[in-house]
Amino acid sequence: MSITAIPNPSAINSRAIQRFLFATNRRVIDAILRLSPLPSMLKQDAVLNWYTEDANKYLILHLWGSNMTKHGYIKFLGTAGGRFVVAKQLRSSAGTFISAKGKNVIVDPGPGTLVRSAASRPRIDVSKLDAIILTHAHLDHSNDVNVLIDAITEGGLKKRGTLFAPDDCLNGDNAVVLKYLRDYLKDIVILKENSEYRLDDLTFKTSVKHEHGVETYGVKFDLDGTKVSFMVDTKFFPQLIASYADSDILVLNVVMDKYHPEYGDILHLYSEDAVNIIKTIKPQKAILTHFGMAMLKTKPWVLAKKLSDELGIDVVAASDGMKIEV
Ligand SMILES: [Zn+2]
Ligand SMILES: [Zn+2]
Repeated sequence: MSITAIPNPSAINSRAIQRFLFATNRRVIDAILRLSPLPSMLKQDAVLNWYTEDANKYLILHLWGSNMTKHGYIKFLGTAGGRFVVAKQLRSSAGTFISAKGKNVIVDPGPGTLVRSAASRPRIDVSKLDAIILTHAHLDHSNDVNVLIDAITEGGLKKRGTLFAPDDCLNGDNAVVLKYLRDYLKDIVILKENSEYRLDDLTFKTSVKHEHGVETYGVKFDLDGTKVSFMVDTKFFPQLIASYADSDILVLNVVMDKYHPEYGDILHLYSEDAVNIIKTIKPQKAILTHFGMAMLKTKPWVLAKKLSDELGIDVVAASDGMKIEV
């Protein structure tokens, strides 16, 4: 293995390293911690992940945030999107766990969230969750919300936990939160578009209203200036770009591989939409998830690798259980 030096170490910041790594086409960086001019803070905060690709091993230095301070992590308990992938559990349909700024949150607890949390290593104790965020009422995003509320509140013995959800998750014909559980929660907050919400030190904003048939909002966390956004289910529309423009880490629900006329008007992102969105927004990192059957068949990790090489942006396809430091 060769040793690659990072030029001008005094000017190092996370974006510079990202650009450098991709500019050198991910050449092997060996023994990076032994490169003497690196600032000590860099050594402490470097998270080094080995992975194998094309039979070569690459050392990738992941550094997020302008001050190189880690705020927490995201764990993708599930990455299933389309109905067949969910029904057959080709991928898990559990939600996304976020631990940051002293809070534990589940976004979109789809079917299997309770089970996957318990099976997660280290185990995620759902009774310790501080909040649940529903981005919309669809089953693959909300199925486990009731059992989680029951767990958080110990069946109503303790009034705790906050539920954030659009109005139609709570009211109307397709409300998904059981009425008898609602009083158990400390708080229920109705989400609106382009609004800011706070859970002590953890803050997030909602996106513009998505085009997805039911009331749907993406969520954008602000972790001391690092913007971690979840562009959940939606059809592409131009305002999406402006709404997510400041994302540093952008998670995109890419259900479809391409336009299939026989399916009619599908209110989801196609892989081509995702490519255009990533190209335009240029986040530090883009994460593809929520895969439907056709998307899985086209191997999202191959698309992610291609995009990384083409765009010089770190693009990954989420896998069940994948953890990302933020
Ligand atoms: Zn969905
Ligand atoms: Zn949906």
